Amino acid sequence: MWKGWPKSSAQPAQRLPNSKVQDTTTSKPPRKRSFRKPSICIMANQAIVKKAADRLELVEVGENSAWNVLWTDQPITVQQCLSMERFQMVNYIPGISEITRKDLLARNLTRMQKMFPEDYDFFPKTWWLPADLKELTLFSRQNRGSVYIVKPGSSSQGRGIFITKCLGELESLQQFVCQAYIARPLLIDGFKFDMRIYGLITTCDPLRLYLYNEGIARFATQKYEVPGNNNLHNVFMHLTNYSINKHSCEFVSGEDGSKRRISTINAWMQTQGFDVGLIWNTIDDAIIKTVIPASENLKRQYKMSFPRHPQGCFVLLGFDVLLDADLKPHILEVNRCPSLNIDSPMDEEVKEQLLVDIFTLLNLGRLDQHRVKDQERKRLFESNQLTIKKIAQKVANAPQKENDEDDSKIQADALEACLRAQVEWEEQNLGNFRIAYPNVNSEEKYSKFFSAADVNSSLFQETVASKARKAMVLKSLQVVEEEIAPAFEDFSLKEEEIKLNGSTVSRGRITALNSFEPSFINLAEERERVREMDKRDFLVQSFNLRAYIVEAMRQNGLLRQLEIEEPRKLEKSKFAVLPKIQPDFMPFEAGFHHF
Ligand code: ADP
Repeated sequence: MWKGWPKSSAQPAQRLPNSKVQDTTTSKPPRKRSFRKPSICIMANQAIVKKAADRLELVEVGENSAWNVLWTDQPITVQQCLSMERFQMVNYIPGISEITRKDLLARNLTRMQKMFPEDYDFFPKTWWLPADLKELTLFSRQNRGSVYIVKPGSSSQGRGIFITKCLGELESLQQFVCQAYIARPLLIDGFKFDMRIYGLITTCDPLRLYLYNEGIARFATQKYEVPGNNNLHNVFMHLTNYSINKHSCEFVSGEDGSKRRISTINAWMQTQGFDVGLIWNTIDDAIIKTVIPASENLKRQYKMSFPRHPQGCFVLLGFDVLLDADLKPHILEVNRCPSLNIDSPMDEEVKEQLLVDIFTLLNLGRLDQHRVKDQERKRLFESNQLTIKKIAQKVANAPQKENDEDDSKIQADALEACLRAQVEWEEQNLGNFRIAYPNVNSEEKYSKFFSAADVNSSLFQETVASKARKAMVLKSLQVVEEEIAPAFEDFSLKEEEIKLNGSTVSRGRITALNSFEPSFINLAEERERVREMDKRDFLVQSFNLRAYIVEAMRQNGLLRQLEIEEPRKLEKSKFAVLPKIQPDFMPFEAGFHHF
């Protein structure tokens, strides 16, 4: 028999702030939690991140603390994402390599190019070696005299890149990307340059992409000449990487040197009479179309890695864009960890402000650990009340209302409310960012690319084998539906739909054949089960239920003498696997003793 709350702990009603049943005899005002400054854990050798964090008074903590934001230059695993709390975020989106690795970017954009040749002509024609060697040979026969730039599949900073006109040099290459060389780039003072444009994805479901108005243009250090056999090997003429050109004796430092701000380039373009607004609209359009092929994969991986987070991750991307002599932008590559090294006052100014604007946009203040946990508890309380109501209705045989909210709806609503608030914040705290996607008419404009990217997503692309498997599964489902299910009409389950690789099939009236055979796994039920287990764990931890149970067992004489004398033994038992957490409030207070 239940004999009340353990004496050692105060009555929950007295500790529940704003509760209707709060004990009015105590004169203590409800405890107010002080606002804690958001914390950051920096796991990258980037001093500028620390500088920006200091400017915003973020507290720097170690990796074992309960940080709010983790800044790392390494990819993190799904397991690490799953272990993150709802008050934590990381600067890495699982699946982003679909566009940040040269080979995957080439594969994704080439596929889109085949479907939408005109819309995707901002990406230079690219071949994956050795697989596409035949196709490349055919192209070179039809386009005599073409120049190619060849890059190792997963390298960076210009390493291993060379320019050639001779396909014979490529025959023995393994895992290289070969690309048509943009031979007529836009020149400033006779020098080739490219632009590093910073992009920030704050959520992937729905996709939100911001682009930064400031950035850095990197210049080659030798005047450009049309590629010919006499200059093909001159990296200071054809490559614009800072990591290469800083070694040139003709590298010029300073604001008008070999590295300039994007705003300086804009001002120059204005003096030339170019339509700068139009150029940037075209660049934004190309960047959005570059992200689209990865979007479906990002969404899937996000759901898998952060099932309970409204916004568990974000990513800063560096888009390298080359303008040609006709002012047409070409996307050369996308960097997941754009360099945050500081080699000049200009670097420092641009990158520090970029980081400050990122942290502000992310609204780190909302990640207060206690506030997030309180919100989570309230949501669980609501959902629990609902379960109690449903059980009561079932027991009383009362008809269930059709519009009864279910738990998944409460959870979805809560996540949506968080996201809505965050989007509002982002729109009002853009700093020097502009919203690239979504924007006016953007859904209409890009929907065909999204649908094509979804169907053709590289990970989920249909192969002959997958089509055969799908046909087989559909056939077995049909057999179950037509031959087996009718025999078990009485035990039939609710009709429901199963999504199979894009197409929807009716699950129909599927039943277990007999109680010893495994029944079909219903994904919705399975998800529900995992969610309930999750909730149970959370409640057990949050409300220190272990202490109450032990006390109840003690009062009812269920503990062994040894356990009474040495309560520490209990701590070590299987029973004590959960950490002790003092409950801040007991939302169950009203309904708990009904059980
Ligand atoms: P990395 O990641 O190694 O820097 P990039 O693809 O960015 O590789 O290429 C390095 C440089 O080579 C670019 O900054 C640009 O100057 C030049 N480059 C790359 N691709 C092309 C191309 N298709 N046409 C002309 N120049 C190119």
